[in-house]
Amino acid sequence: MATLRSPETQKKYHEWKMAHQGDRRCVLCDREPLISFEYWKIIANDFPYDRITQKHDMLVPLRHVVGRELSDEERSELEKLKETYLGERYQSVLESLQSAMTIPSHFHVHLLVLKDDL
Ligand SMILES: [Zn+2]
Repeated sequence: MATLRSPETQKKYHEWKMAHQGDRRCVLCDREPLISFEYWKIIANDFPYDRITQKHDMLVPLRHVVGRELSDEERSELEKLKETYLGERYQSVLESLQSAMTIPSHFHVHLLVLKDDL
C-alpha cells in the first residue's frame, strides 16, 4: 500500500513496528499528551506523513474505544474542537479506515498541516 511517509520515516516506522509486535499495552493509551481536553488528547506522531506534511499530530479519545463506540459527548467535543482548537492550528483531519489502521483498536485521527510547496 502507498505511504505518505518519506523512505527514512517509513523505515523507522517499520523497525518500530517489528520491535513492538508482541506488545500488549496500547501505545495510544500510554502516550503522554501534548494537550488534553475533556474527552480527547493530542499526541505527537513520531512517524509523520512527512512527504506531504510539515506538522502531523494525532487526536485520540482518552478512552480505549473504536470509532463506533464513541459516545455522544466524545463526538460532540470532537466537532467543537474542529471549530476551535484544531481549526486554528491544523489544516486537515484525516481518518484512516479500520482496515488500514496500524492500531485499529483505539480510534484516532491524523491532524495535518500540509507543506507549503506541494
Ligand atoms: Zn488505547
